[in-house]
Amino acid sequence: MTELLLDVTFSCCACDGETTVTLQCRGKGLESGPRTIAATQVPCYCCGAYNYVYFHPTGEVVAVGPVETREEAGQGSRRVLAPSRN
Ligand SMILES: [Zn+2]
Repeated sequence: MTELLLDVTFSCCACDGETTVTLQCRGKGLESGPRTIAATQVPCYCCGAYNYVYFHPTGEVVAVGPVETREEAGQGSRRVLAPSRN
């Protein structure tokens, strides 16, 4: 099984604080190449707000988006929000 430990650094949507998290990634998605985008929810170290973090298996952050509510954050990956691009 492919498994990765990634250190991902992102800026919080709510407070702009920098948070670095170590993410454990595994599964078939990792084998489809370095341009694969994975998403996870991470609470900010600074203010506690949840952020959706989209990243490549290389550890490069693609986009960060806010998680609207705590309830939504608790539901895991049921809902997928597209990152906004202007
Ligand atoms: Zn924050």
